[in-house]
Amino acid sequence: MRKTLSYDDVLLIPQYSTIRSRTEVDMSVDLGRGLSLQLPILSSPMDTISEKDMAVAMGISGGAAIIHRYNTLQEQVSIVSQAKEGNPTLTVGAAIGVSGDFLNRAAALRAVGIDFVCVDVAHGHHLSVKEAIGALRNILGDMHIMAGNVATLAGINDLADWGADSARCNIGGGSICSTRTQTGHGMPGLETVFECAQTDRDVKIIADGGIRTSGDIVKALAAGADAVMCGSLLAGTAETPGKVMQDKDGHRWKIYRGMASKEAQIEWRGKYSSFEGVASRVPYRGLVASILEDLQRGIRSGFSYSGARTIGELHAKAEFIQQSGASQTESGTHIHRRDW
Ligand code: IMP
Repeated sequence: MRKTLSYDDVLLIPQYSTIRSRTEVDMSVDLGRGLSLQLPILSSPMDTISEKDMAVAMGISGGAAIIHRYNTLQEQVSIVSQAKEGNPTLTVGAAIGVSGDFLNRAAALRAVGIDFVCVDVAHGHHLSVKEAIGALRNILGDMHIMAGNVATLAGINDLADWGADSARCNIGGGSICSTRTQTGHGMPGLETVFECAQTDRDVKIIADGGIRTSGDIVKALAAGADAVMCGSLLAGTAETPGKVMQDKDGHRWKIYRGMASKEAQIEWRGKYSSFEGVASRVPYRGLVASILEDLQRGIRSGFSYSGARTIGELHAKAEFIQQSGASQTESGTHIHRRDW
């Protein structure tokens, strides 16, 4: 049986570096068809992550939000227009499905200046995605189409052949995801990136789900990703949709939930079918800008340890090793605290 690896199983070997200052690191990425980012981070199309405020903050940071699709066409279009109002240069994406009003959404979103669309389904290596991308290309012309999610080389190759410009890679690895438990299917997130990076097609790789730290981002990029997509890393911030709640001890929190959770399905469809996600409380964390700044510092430092100034150089230079269980323990902070 095949042995696979995920983020905690590996480390990058530190290498000779000529980078004197972390400001020399250029994290920009060209994802194709006019979509480029200064910061290779996308916020997930989820109703507790990406609406107008997140789109503005992500755009200002150099990344981009993908406005979720769990709303009406009018609501989604309005969120996009608000984000672009006063900020027409911000990069903003929007998610669409593969049935119902998805073609009308694509046309309406294009009319309000969306920069790219994301065909957002759980199992992207699917006939319905093939049909949807074909139909969307006629409506969207030369606009960047992201699609997913896939877990395999065959999956990313098919998405590319069907017309996708980038692919969300990872099935079942999200922090709020229960797909692997409910269905027995999936593949470790970093392994998926390693596998998808073997593609010979002109398609960019978005490492999606299960990314918890700037170290995970560096590992994903080093494994061959061109950008990462994050939910939990950005959850609980001021810019996420939803109220800040407070418990009796004064701890503030917000809700973060999978889009296939019972809670999300009941809210958006009035009922639930198979559920593959959970809803959770996460601590309130203030402005997302400071989280993105910390992530950027960590990523720049990571590039420097590999002696890489760009994502392309990181792809070429990075050397991974597998960690033992003991080294995984050593890799985390492991001070023995005392209760004084
Ligand atoms: P996180 O960054 O680990 O929190 O993962 C976020 C990713 O989880 C998203 O970008 C989606 O790919 C995925 N996701 C969102 N909702 C669900 C769900 O309900 N079930 C499974 N995966 C989900």
